[in-house]
This record gives sequence, structure tokens and C-alpha cells, in this order.
Amino acid sequence: MARNEAPASPSLGITRQSFLLGTLVFAASPLLRCLPVKAAGGFDVAEVAPGVYVHQGRYEMQSPENRGDMANAAFIVGDEAVAVIDTLGSAVVGRELRQAIRAVTDKPIRYVINTHMHPDHVFGNAAFKEDNPTFVGHYKMARGLASRADQYLATNKRMLGEEAFEGIEIVLPTLAVEDKLSLDLGNRTLVLEAQPTAHTDNDLIVTDTRTGTLFLGDLLFSVHVPTLDGSIKGWLTLIDALEKRQVARVVPGHGPHAMELPEAFAPERRYLATIAEDVRRLIAEGKTLEEATKTAGFSEQDAWKLFDQYHVRNVTAAFAELEWE
Ligand SMILES: [Zn+2]
Repeated sequence: MARNEAPASPSLGITRQSFLLGTLVFAASPLLRCLPVKAAGGFDVAEVAPGVYVHQGRYEMQSPENRGDMANAAFIVGDEAVAVIDTLGSAVVGRELRQAIRAVTDKPIRYVINTHMHPDHVFGNAAFKEDNPTFVGHYKMARGLASRADQYLATNKRMLGEEAFEGIEIVLPTLAVEDKLSLDLGNRTLVLEAQPTAHTDNDLIVTDTRTGTLFLGDLLFSVHVPTLDGSIKGWLTLIDALEKRQVARVVPGHGPHAMELPEAFAPERRYLATIAEDVRRLIAEGKTLEEATKTAGFSEQDAWKLFDQYHVRNVTAAFAELEWE
């Protein structure tokens, strides 16, 4: 595909024609087929590998209508326990994720893992407090989230509206990952690895060793424009390392349920590299930040959803970083 517009995954009740079309599109893209599962209330999850379930969020900004359901979330079922990876952007949708888990298994939810501090991935944490899980995050996540909490809460209260904001609270990790950590779900080991500063300074990746499924959080964006809140140089360097991983599939923080390496990273790398190249050139030409935000990276405009909402912020962050090279 010329653009990285991923097709929606097949849902129940698809026509033969759309199924065949879907098969063709899937065959030609770094997407992996997966089985759709429809949980109570129409909250969709897909089983991308045995015992690995992924919910795909919408490519939108938070709103009363989507109630903060704009990122991917996942859960993994071991022989003894369940781990949740990210909890979506409100307690309301976090509860729907919890119901989806309960529709699949009644095993205890022992771990809630956050891939980074952003509200669209952590504001559903409160929905799992009744399970008394261990909340797990990168060792820098608590500091990052605590320092931005007031701003995150105010922004989301305004954008979600009262109803969808109800029940949101800041739930910090109770177990911090300094480097590498294994969690046992019963004959099923998850390996958690803290990453250097890239998309944020607290990105954590998770590998389900039983199925070779790598959860990249927002280190991988597909369709949804990447959002830069860490280091553009660090992120590009990290992509070089992560895309060499030998795994069966990766799950992006925003994008389809499952994708394949190394192709999955290609659009994101191109986007970030284009910004870095344009910004470096403009700095060398003595241009200002304001001028950069009007031109840098705009060749990518049609390749991404939510470009208008995030791109200028990304250029601003890249400029601040690269002007000190
Ligand atoms: Zn996100």
C-alpha cells in the first residue's frame, strides 16, 4: 500500500467479498491475521495468538463519544493468572476492558503493566484496583506521571467530559522495572524491558515468550501519527535495534492488532527521519522554530491520521533537541 492506511480487521458477519478483499490486503501488508472476539457491550478484542488478546483503539483525540478509547490494550492469560498491558484512557473504558477479560477467563488479574505514562494508556488503571494487582511500569514512569498528573487530569476532564472522566485517578506503578524483569503467569513468562529515552523517557516493552509476541507500546505507531515526548535521536536509534528482534508478531500502541517486523517500523522511521533531516537543514540555514513548524516534515502530511493534531508539537520537540547538537 502506498500509504499506511491499515484496513480494519475482519469482524463477525463479514461478507465473502470483504473477506476476500481483506485477505488480499492482509497478504500485502505487514499485518497479521487474527481471530476477532466480541465481548459483552460490543467492546472488541482479537486473539492474536493463543491466550493473547488485543483491543484496538480508535485513531482519534479523546472525546465524550470515544470515552478515551484511542489506544491499544492487551491481556495475556497464563495457566494461573492474567496480565493486562495498558488500560486505555478512562476508568469507564478500563472497566469494559476488564469485562472483556472476564468474558474470556475468571483467572485472577495479577499484573497491570503500563507501557508508558500517557493518559490514553494509564487512565483505565483505576478500573483494576478491585483486583489488587501489581501495577508495573518503567522506573521513570512514576516520576513522569506524577509531575504531569495535574495537567493530564485537567486536559482529559475538559476533552472527555464529566461522564467519561468519572472514576479516573492517577495510579502509579507499585513495581518498577529498572532494566529487565520476568513475570510468571503460570507456565507463561513475560519479559519486561525498560527502554532508553525515545517516544518518552519511560517506555517499557513486553515479550510473551510462549508465543513470541512483542508489545511495543507507543514505540510503534501505525496509521496514527507518532507523538514525540522524549528524544527523536533516541527513538531512531532504538528503532534500529528493535526491528531486528526475532519475534512472531508485534503489537503497536496505536495501529492494527498485530504486525510483523521489520516492515512494521518502516513508516514511523521514515516520518521521524524526515523531521530530523528537515529540522537539521533548517537549523543549519539559521531558520527559527516558527519557520520550522511551517515546513519541516510536511511531506508526511497525507501518510498519517491525526497529523494536524500532533505534527507541529513533534517538530517543536525535535527542534529543541536538535538545535543543541
Ligand atoms: Zn498512546
